[in-house]
Amino acid sequence: MKPLVEERALTITTPLLAAYLKCPTKCWHRSGGEQVTGGTYAQWFQAQNESYCTTGIHQLLSERHQGECIASPSADNLKAGKWRLATNVLARIKMMESDVHAVERLPSEGRGKPAQFIPIRFDPTNKPGKDAKLLLAFDALLLSEMLGHEVSLGKLIHGDDYAVLNVNTSTLAVEVRKHIDKTVALLSSSSPPDLVLIRHCTECEFEAQCRQKAMEKDDLSLLSGMTAKERKKLHNKGVFTVTQLSYTFRPRRRSKRLRHKQERYQHPLRALALREKKIHIVGSPELKIEGTPIYIDVEGLPDRDFYYLIGMRLGSGTSAIQHSFWANNIKDEKKIWTDLLGMLAKVQNPVLIHYGSYETTFFKRMCDRYGFPPEQSSAERALKTSVNLLSVIFVKIYFPTFSNGLKDIGHFLGVTWDSPVRSGLQSLAVRLDWEQSHDPTLKALLVAYNRDDCIALSTILFHLSKIIRDANSRADIEFSYSPKRVATDTGAEVHNTLQSVLRSAHFSYARSRIKISSAKRDQAAHSKKEDRKKRPRRKAFSPSREQSYRFLVSGPVQNIQGTN
Ligand code: SF4
Repeated sequence: MKPLVEERALTITTPLLAAYLKCPTKCWHRSGGEQVTGGTYAQWFQAQNESYCTTGIHQLLSERHQGECIASPSADNLKAGKWRLATNVLARIKMMESDVHAVERLPSEGRGKPAQFIPIRFDPTNKPGKDAKLLLAFDALLLSEMLGHEVSLGKLIHGDDYAVLNVNTSTLAVEVRKHIDKTVALLSSSSPPDLVLIRHCTECEFEAQCRQKAMEKDDLSLLSGMTAKERKKLHNKGVFTVTQLSYTFRPRRRSKRLRHKQERYQHPLRALALREKKIHIVGSPELKIEGTPIYIDVEGLPDRDFYYLIGMRLGSGTSAIQHSFWANNIKDEKKIWTDLLGMLAKVQNPVLIHYGSYETTFFKRMCDRYGFPPEQSSAERALKTSVNLLSVIFVKIYFPTFSNGLKDIGHFLGVTWDSPVRSGLQSLAVRLDWEQSHDPTLKALLVAYNRDDCIALSTILFHLSKIIRDANSRADIEFSYSPKRVATDTGAEVHNTLQSVLRSAHFSYARSRIKISSAKRDQAAHSKKEDRKKRPRRKAFSPSREQSYRFLVSGPVQNIQGTN
């Protein structure tokens, strides 16, 4: 990818620092002005931030008299003016700059006491993370340098209600300085940082090119779930690629003591499955569905702890029935939960099938919020006996995929998603857009996406059952701890030939060892053996340390005795 700007930016700006806090590679790409080829979510998120900030500034301005406010003040105006609220303040020192969203000025409380300046930053999330606080601390740091006195307090205005969070920025100053130093070191370097795929990649505008590079390198970070510590340990051993890792897999028999404990997840086995393009099975996975399977998938806004869509599918193929329970707002959440329970009550012996812990948490939260279904009811039994397909797969079935995610496993098993919404992250963006516009097309997109996930569940269940049942006879499935000897017809032929070669080799070896002995010779040999047994054993010579030394210096034992 050719950078648009050849020279790398050496001024640390807020977007660069924000990128560094997420990922050094992202900071590197942004500093070079690299062209973005994907990242619809990233663009949406950027637009969302800007619009939230604009609305927030309007609100602040509406609470003040016009004479108290200034926009984009110069550095001199900032120090000398009598304003109370400044918006879009450019704070700049040496090689750092920040476009501070707003600054509040509290007049001096007495003679000799300076006025207080409070930087304000807007963040649309309901639960602002550490990064947002660090960026506010960056604003405070630049303002303190510009104004010549400490700015120790900042305000983070966040979430749907524009709630205000006071942040003690002076306690974060040391950490911010460390990050600034690291960013400067990164941007001064002539080579890019090591590429490591991380969780944030799905939100990042550079995802496509980074993933492609990682695939070309066959990088270990392609394996989801591998920690930085595990990767470092492998690097120290000289293992850098997924293929190299695949050769390190060694099947081990579990000790009896550990037999009742759960197996540990094995990255080498995942790598082996990818190299061989085979499914690998550890132990004997079990999947029992005793009742009517009901596929369930839930969409929500984790930021608000709010679930807005429950998809429920009965049966499979063309005869399947799909139900979608939609909540317009948080007040509707109870209704969709009750609707689901009502529907479960109509099904005979329902068994809820889901994928991952998101639904498990959903069941628990709904019961806590709105009460448990009646005891002994079919809804109660269904909640108690729900089947998480991921737990059937985890550490027992290794697919040749980089992760155990629903999309990865689903695509491998031939599931297709028809909806233009491709991921949970995109569904989040579409839901928030729907809340602004109430556009029925957006709602239909989300319902279709949720339905596709339910269909994927039914397909995965079908294939999992087949894999477990037919593992012994399928060539694309291997038992990792006791590999199958014969996988195909050709394999059987090669195996038989090798066996006959081995048999012949063993026969010639045995023939060379055959001896013909007479009965007389046998008797003599036997009596000799008996004599040897009766003879008293000679005491083994064990010299003292001094004797050993002398022996080494002067020779055999007689000489030692002579010198005594
Ligand atoms: S895609 Fe991932 S590795 Fe690449 S820049 Fe973004 S966060 Fe970093």
